Amino acid sequence: MEIIDGKLLAAKVRKALKSEVQELKDIGITPNLAVILVGEDKASQIYIKNKSKACLEIGIDYEEFLLDVDTTMEQLLELIDKLNEREDIHGILLQSPMPKHLNIDKAFERISPKKDVDGFNPVNVGKLCLNQDGFVSCTPAGIMKMFENYNINIEGKNAVVLGRSNIVGKPMSLCLLNRDATVTICHSKTQNLVEITKNADIIVVALGKPRFLTKDMVKEGAVVIDVGINRLETGIVGDVDFENVKEIASYITPVPGGVGPMTIAMLMQNVVKAAKKASEISETNFTILSK
Ligand code: NAP
Repeated sequence: MEIIDGKLLAAKVRKALKSEVQELKDIGITPNLAVILVGEDKASQIYIKNKSKACLEIGIDYEEFLLDVDTTMEQLLELIDKLNEREDIHGILLQSPMPKHLNIDKAFERISPKKDVDGFNPVNVGKLCLNQDGFVSCTPAGIMKMFENYNINIEGKNAVVLGRSNIVGKPMSLCLLNRDATVTICHSKTQNLVEITKNADIIVVALGKPRFLTKDMVKEGAVVIDVGINRLETGIVGDVDFENVKEIASYITPVPGGVGPMTIAMLMQNVVKAAKKASEISETNFTILSK
């Protein structure tokens, strides 16, 4: 059994990005991420602090927009429009969850697909569905990077994704499908769950249920990826009963130190990609204009 070290791999990714950012700065481009947080959700505050720390380390500029809990949809869309227009902003991230009176889908839809570094805009979701280049949701992208780095073969494997959320479960399933896995997606209405998970070569668990996946649900030698972050009084635990499942898994991710750091590293990667793409566009425009 091997424990997949997300912390170490994320540090490697960030190091490589730091030199890419320096190269961009040398030609006058500083990648810049705008983060919008509405309200005072405690977990979100921790997440955005970690994102700002990562930006600082890599050399990405970071602007935070902290909006009142009673911000209206019109005010939120107006801010997104302004950020879409600003040429010095390359990525826009809207931290979820948002207060219930706001329509998060409408807000994600408003973010320019070119600045949608979270990959939640329907254009980027559609591109993922069509296996075209776009921005991929950061958690699934980070998990794919783990597979690549640990030489875990996906092609032809039975992959089971527990959870069908728009931010993790669905894009994860598409990423695996695009890499030729045979994918089963499970959710709260799934019947005979154990039969399905027992047959899986790869299991990705994204439920938000502490230690849900137990040893008796896992086939010997399976690859187990734990996306869950559950804050208990005793500390943070994942959706996998790590101590017992690790006895039969071939690879397993810990919580913390597994998927979480990779999610942030992939966000950074997407911001750098957005900045590069924006510079390509302006160079093309420049060439056309100067002809
Ligand atoms: P979510 O939107 O709440 O979705 C949970 C999914 O689990 C739903 O699809 C739900 O099914 C399914 N589910 C619930 N109970 C189930 C059961 N008994 N059997 C099978 N499926 C069941 O959650 P999310 O946003 O995807 O997040 C999942 C977890 O990952 C959370 O702990 C979250 O904090 C964590 N997370 C971590 C990262 C990271 O970077 N590590 C990033 C994002 C999220 P229905 O659709 O039928 O309701």
